[in-house]
Amino acid sequence: MGKILFISNRLEKIQQYSEIFNKKPYEFFTSSDENAIFEIVEINNPDIIIFDHSFDNIKQLIKKLKSVTTSTSFIFLTQNGNIENDITKYINAFLTEEMSDELVLSTVAVNLKTKHSLEQLSDTNKNLADSLYRLNVLYSTSSQFAGSLDKEKLINYMIEGLDKSLSFDLTCTLCTEDEPVLLLNSLYEISDELLSALKLRTVLNYKSLFEDKKPPFEIEADTLKVVKTVKYPANRFTFTLFQYDNMFAPISLGDNFFGCIEIFKETPFTSDDATCFQTIAQQVSLPLKSATLYQEIMETNLKLEKLERLKSEFISIVSHELRTPLTAIKNSLDILSGGRCGDINESGQKFLSMAQRNVQRLAGIINDLLDLSKIEAGKMDYHFANMNIHSVIDYVKSSLSVMAKEKGLNLIAEETPDLPDIYADSQRLEQVLTNLVSNAIKFTPEGKNIIIRSHTADASQLNTPDCFKEDIQKLQGKYIVVCVEDQGIGIAEKDLLRAFDKFAQIENSLSRKVGGSGLGLPIAKQLLQAHNGAIWCESELNKGSRFYFAIPINIVPAKMEKNLILN
Ligand code: ADP
Repeated sequence: MGKILFISNRLEKIQQYSEIFNKKPYEFFTSSDENAIFEIVEINNPDIIIFDHSFDNIKQLIKKLKSVTTSTSFIFLTQNGNIENDITKYINAFLTEEMSDELVLSTVAVNLKTKHSLEQLSDTNKNLADSLYRLNVLYSTSSQFAGSLDKEKLINYMIEGLDKSLSFDLTCTLCTEDEPVLLLNSLYEISDELLSALKLRTVLNYKSLFEDKKPPFEIEADTLKVVKTVKYPANRFTFTLFQYDNMFAPISLGDNFFGCIEIFKETPFTSDDATCFQTIAQQVSLPLKSATLYQEIMETNLKLEKLERLKSEFISIVSHELRTPLTAIKNSLDILSGGRCGDINESGQKFLSMAQRNVQRLAGIINDLLDLSKIEAGKMDYHFANMNIHSVIDYVKSSLSVMAKEKGLNLIAEETPDLPDIYADSQRLEQVLTNLVSNAIKFTPEGKNIIIRSHTADASQLNTPDCFKEDIQKLQGKYIVVCVEDQGIGIAEKDLLRAFDKFAQIENSLSRKVGGSGLGLPIAKQLLQAHNGAIWCESELNKGSRFYFAIPINIVPAKMEKNLILN
């Protein structure tokens, strides 16, 4: 079946062509009047127009018709097969006067077939282009989803994606996170009556999702908050909106319910539209869940930060409060043991020196607590200056050699001449080295050696157990490395990193006996970080440990410069 318009002013030709085409399943029109021709074309949209060569101003007519038709095939009836060049570019085929009826019919039939095939091809192309466009929208929408942890933005991306792919007239999105809110994204303005109806409908839709179960949120239409976005506010929707085609989907993932969405469009939705709608509504659920988790993590972090601050403040206050009475106790004990209050017998002296040792230990713990709370509050004072590590090693060696000797240990400092100067706080480095050496003394049995070594090394040469690699990778350039080696009880590989945790004491026979605050190593770690250095250790159970720390040579890092200005 095809529609054919024959344009001619020759009666005999009109008669001949009418006879040919009226017999077949064609709708046949003919005209010799120019105005009528355009009317027929507009109303009937013929598949083929056949132009008789003898028609007046045929060239102009073809041109004009070409400009108003898009898919119509043009066939030219020539007198003897000759066609002007100007005309050939507009026509798809030609007939001659001498052609038999069969040949005319088959020429037209072939053209019709070609035309239909072209139309099908163009439809397929259009569908392909539509699918491609939709895929692009889906792709860019899911990329947007993946890049955001903001719930409001995610819902907006979903609505944008739906608008681009389905060009809706209205969406009603109920978001049940935090305070339930109904988002209306509409092409036209919504009257108050329609708004009430939409609210009621949304709440009913929402409740229907839970059937006999209790919905997660109590939502009532009259108290539901609404946020409206209208594209063309000059126009207004009426209740006929409810006759539009519509689709509805929950926005949820497993037990996590985020809301639901209903979408309206005047023209019917196709099954592809439904798939696209479901895909986008489903895709937004996962990032919404991540956003919820992220929000929870951030809130927990804030709470933890607050707790940590409170804890630091508490430790700082308590330590200060403890220090004053402790100083008074220490002074009293000193006076007593100095004999200023009379003679004290041997066993009294024993108890006194035990009390003095414990006061000393307690003072050490309180000092550690104060240091840590200062470091954590960023209030630690540093006095950076050019210095040589030898002075630190010498100081620590002479102040701890008595303690080592008392335990029957040899404290040795290996001489390394010509170590370059470093820019550091000598008191803090003494604190670090004192802690390492006194730990070595505490955890090494009688008769063994404790050796302090120092050398220069490039960051790339530093070799540490795997658990310290992350810290060491940050180092660059040249360093002075100090090592405290002992032949003590050692630390199991699994506990190496934990030894640097606050209040950590590795479970072993000695830890409890020798006591300690569990703060020496974490403080050392923080002090070295403030020097842009690092600390790590190698150890083997029952064989001994090597604690290392590294301080950069020749650099005044930004952090130190700041301190330099402050001091
Ligand atoms: P503490 O004041 O308890 O010694 P530290 O932070 O200095 O606190 O050390 C933490 C823990 O690491 C110690 O309790 C001990 O279990 C372990 N440790 C530290 N140094 C050594 C060492 N040289 N040999 C064996 N274990 C050690």
